[in-house]
Amino acid sequence: MQGNMMDVQLTVPTILERIRGQYRNREVVSLLAAGRDEAGNPVPKKHHTTYGEVADRALRLASGLLGLGLQKGDRVATLAVNSFRHLEAYLGVPSAGLVLHTVNIRLHPEQVAWILNDAEDRVLMIENVFAAMVPALKAACPRLEQVIVMGPLPQAIPGVQDYDTFVMGAEPLARYPRLDENEAAAMCYTSGTTGNPKGVVYTHRSTVLHSLASAPKDALNVGEADSVLPIVPMFHVNAWGLPYTCAMYGAKQVYAGVFSDGRSIATLLQEEGVTITAGVPTIWMGLLAELDRAKEAGEPYNLGPLERVIVGGSAAPEAMIRAFQTRHALTMLQAWGMTETHPLGTASSVPFDVDPNSDEGYKLRAKQGRTVPLVSLDIVDGERRRLPHDGKTMGNLIARGPWIASSYYKGAGQDNFFDLDGELWFDTGDISTLDERGYMHIQDRSKDLIKSGGEWISSVDLENAIMAHPAVAQCAVIAMDDPKWDERPLAVVVPRPGQSVTHQELLELLEPQFAKFWLPDATVLTDSIPIGATGKFLKRELREEYRGYSPT
Ligand code: ADP
Repeated sequence: MQGNMMDVQLTVPTILERIRGQYRNREVVSLLAAGRDEAGNPVPKKHHTTYGEVADRALRLASGLLGLGLQKGDRVATLAVNSFRHLEAYLGVPSAGLVLHTVNIRLHPEQVAWILNDAEDRVLMIENVFAAMVPALKAACPRLEQVIVMGPLPQAIPGVQDYDTFVMGAEPLARYPRLDENEAAAMCYTSGTTGNPKGVVYTHRSTVLHSLASAPKDALNVGEADSVLPIVPMFHVNAWGLPYTCAMYGAKQVYAGVFSDGRSIATLLQEEGVTITAGVPTIWMGLLAELDRAKEAGEPYNLGPLERVIVGGSAAPEAMIRAFQTRHALTMLQAWGMTETHPLGTASSVPFDVDPNSDEGYKLRAKQGRTVPLVSLDIVDGERRRLPHDGKTMGNLIARGPWIASSYYKGAGQDNFFDLDGELWFDTGDISTLDERGYMHIQDRSKDLIKSGGEWISSVDLENAIMAHPAVAQCAVIAMDDPKWDERPLAVVVPRPGQSVTHQELLELLEPQFAKFWLPDATVLTDSIPIGATGKFLKRELREEYRGYSPT
């Protein structure tokens, strides 16, 4: 027997309608770049608007784009930073039945062109600060028909339109097109940390369900009273879905634009009474240094309202979680996900019967956490047989759920999707453990795992332990070739300014914590570790650099 509930389609316009109605007065604050100072650095200028205005302009953008002759399903690319204009695109483009394709601005221009061509984008909306790329992109992307520049241009570029003029020159969309919830709403390419970029296409349904499931208390804890600053870029996995989640629940949104240094972020957090912020560990390292500096100088920031600093994208070292808590009374919540998972898969909220600030609490917070509702995780071996959830056995992490990709755009990477006992699963490429309570703990990405004499060594665990050393600013542990064991760990360490650390000192730190065969064979000190387009260590480059390294 069938139930008799309404079959309402889960579409982005349902989110847009909420901010147009009940949340119309809630604020959206953006830091824009207003020219450059003498040193060439962008000068910040605050922009205030409301959800009501964002909704009105999103509807104008929608009708303006349809007025260009775009058809349902056509792709509209953005190369833009976090701001109210990008938010308008998030809401307006899918509501017109078009597909919002967010492109990573930190990629090499040739890679950007490759991605625009692969996605067959017809329109590009580009932030003014990147407008210098326009002529080259137009030349390399013959399918691109229109380029619209977001923000004022110091000098005109032939053949481009100004976003604000374009938007205000159109009437608001009078009626949404009929949308099926399984139609594409947005797309994003993986950033290629471990291979060629692959397109992931989000549906309206996955966007709405992901927003619903991200907000609850044990996930990101977003509600109307919140003021949310996503530092994580809107060009990468929808800024972890926060623009949609905040709009759905009426939270104030704060955007930092091109500014991601510790001082700009700390100031914005304070001035906008931010309650939730989200970013990758490298951003929080910068913030921590600035908070420490200000405290030592006797002029600490007032971040009283800040309830949650969400960290994800790569593993958050326990030492960092402790430092935020003990030195600044700030609570970090770790979350895990990837482009293919929209991204939220897990959040490391602590169980009701564990004190989050106890040793056990910190240990759990340094894991990636438990699944949000409707997402399932499991671990399998090389033959894709299920492995035990005992907190010790490492396996290939696989995922399944209504906002997990079931394939890549144009059928790339089909091997990642497979059938297990009659169900479709996605192989994440991560190596993790799962314990009896469901806590997932990433040990590595499968390509970064160190395989020594047939045993697996987690580079992430070693890095997190090494980063607890007071003289260490950053650390990446990579595999170096070894004639006897195939691979052995090498610690690449960036010391804190004016400090140094020896291999022996690190071994003394690690010995009580790890099996003997896990201990790195050598430590090299360096000035910096290469960082990729999404703020993660580029271990592939490091491995190239130290391929022939041999400890003497
Ligand atoms: P890319 O695959 O190009 O790095 P993604 O942003 O999709 O781009 O990266 C997803 C990967 O980031 C995950 O597969 C995982 O390896 C890593 N990751 C994300 N969150 C965490 C976390 N909290 N801890 C450890 N690794 C994480």
